[in-house]
Amino acid sequence: MSDTQVAFSDLDLPSSVLKSITELGYETPSPIQAACIPLLLNGQDVLGMAQTGTGKTAAFALPLLSRIDLKLNKPQVLVLAPTRELAVQVAEAFQAYARHVPGFHVLPIYGGQSYTLQLKQLRRGPHVVVGTPGRVMDHLDRGTLILDELKAMVLDEADEMLRMGFIDDVETIMAKTPAERQTALFSATMPEQIRRITKRYMRDPQEIKIASKTTTMENIDQRCWIVSGVNKLDALVRILETEDCGGIIIFARTKTATTEIAEKLEARGYAAAALNGDMNQQLRERTVQRLKDAKLDILVATDVAARGLDVERVGMVINYDIPYDTEAYVHRIGRTGRAGRDGKAILFVAPRERRLLKQIEQATRQPIKQMDLPSRDMVQDKRLESFRQQVTSIFNDEDMAAYRELIDQLAADTELETLDLASALLYMAQKDKPLILPPEPEPRPRRERDSERDSDRGEKRERINYADLDVYRLEVGRNDGVQVKNIVGAIANEADINSRHIGDIRLFDDYSTVQLPKGMPPEVLQQLKGVFICRKKIDISLMEGEVARPAPRKPRGDFKGKGRNDRGGNDRGAPRKPRPRRDA
Ligand code: AMP
Repeated sequence: MSDTQVAFSDLDLPSSVLKSITELGYETPSPIQAACIPLLLNGQDVLGMAQTGTGKTAAFALPLLSRIDLKLNKPQVLVLAPTRELAVQVAEAFQAYARHVPGFHVLPIYGGQSYTLQLKQLRRGPHVVVGTPGRVMDHLDRGTLILDELKAMVLDEADEMLRMGFIDDVETIMAKTPAERQTALFSATMPEQIRRITKRYMRDPQEIKIASKTTTMENIDQRCWIVSGVNKLDALVRILETEDCGGIIIFARTKTATTEIAEKLEARGYAAAALNGDMNQQLRERTVQRLKDAKLDILVATDVAARGLDVERVGMVINYDIPYDTEAYVHRIGRTGRAGRDGKAILFVAPRERRLLKQIEQATRQPIKQMDLPSRDMVQDKRLESFRQQVTSIFNDEDMAAYRELIDQLAADTELETLDLASALLYMAQKDKPLILPPEPEPRPRRERDSERDSDRGEKRERINYADLDVYRLEVGRNDGVQVKNIVGAIANEADINSRHIGDIRLFDDYSTVQLPKGMPPEVLQQLKGVFICRKKIDISLMEGEVARPAPRKPRGDFKGKGRNDRGGNDRGAPRKPRPRRDA
């Protein structure tokens, strides 16, 4: 985190917007927010080198929202985003920040949605339009989007728009907006074509790059886990169960998250508490003291609340939510490894946050090793070991004579063998931490998987009984850059379906189909609907009346769909580049 001590209340934002921020649990502006908000409020153009995860959406949405004239029902802010997913996300962020701004209206527009619906919504006069370049162009051409009252324009993830072939559309759109409009451009990188746009269409843009300090942290063992398959809370618990490390600090982004996580850990038997800016100084100090005195083992903190925290017994820091920038990371992990001790730091990285990970590694000039989650076997072994220790120490430290007598008496009363009695007591004693865990689903042996990939042998096909499969449609296709492996991975992880039970997958330009075991529970289907592949919601649906059957075998290039048996074929070569398209 930067050492900006700026508070949201220092930033001249209207009270209605401040109220929403407080309710959302944001404690303090992220560095990009602290830098951008005053400039944008001041009407200046901004060039932000920032990517997802830095808080850039609020960095432009909060100030621009504050400049809207609610009485004027015309688009005053236009945000261009590379994908429909991002457009929706940005529109939702505006909506969330404006929940106490009565009459505010934001509209996402993107390809694939019906024009009639969009026209109707545009006629209602949204104050902010967030769109993908293709669809915005179409509406401009049709005269259905009028930008003569536009005050500000934002190019979000400009380098992505360039990569996806939208940059000409972006320029055309910019050329059609009033020359005096304010512009903010956000991009993780600054390729030449984007520089050109900034020179041509922006007025004295203020560049914002959050400088990162580098520090050596040799005594801290840094690892990261790329979030997949297991939700973050379960992953956290597995780590807590298997790592020995004294005190622990877990970092989350919002105050709300700190309390939620602390409560969930407490419910699972951990001595955990939240540490955040909602607590007064005295309570915070008391909480930290409890960690020092080992009355607490875990603090779940926000960056601000943990600033400067110095507790020797903290042996591990877990970055539950990735920090905004390298400085915050360095500060966070510096809460362990105090007084010359060794420390451990674990970072959870959602797949879409990989870029931030890379940035942290580059800035600290230290690689962060990828780790696997501890397996269920490891969790079970740890539980047994700690149980064994408890039993031994009770035996050594307590007088057990009266209990031995009680056991004799119980055995006689119940007519049970002592061993049976002991197993029943063990069963009761394990409480909510079972000592025998169900086995982990067997990963398939490598050779089997390879042969499945490499050959088309009949014996593999026999395994699939097509009568047991239904056909589902996914709203992602080749044009989104999707590959068969992405679909297998997402479905196997999200629906907990072994990839062996996934039937043929076929890719088409705009959608894909996948065969899955019959009788999928509605809640699993519902959960799958919200899964993203290649940044697009898959919105899976059952293709009623469609019968699962093996993919027809056709010569290469003739058949667009890909069957189960060429699952690896496409994957081994260079990843398919998404074709440039007019709309996301
Ligand atoms: P973005 O970089 O805009 O994609 O934001 C990443 C995430 O950080 C979103 O979930 C935001 O809600 C959250 N966020 C943004 N600003 C703050 C803040 N000042 N405090 C806490 N969370 C924030």
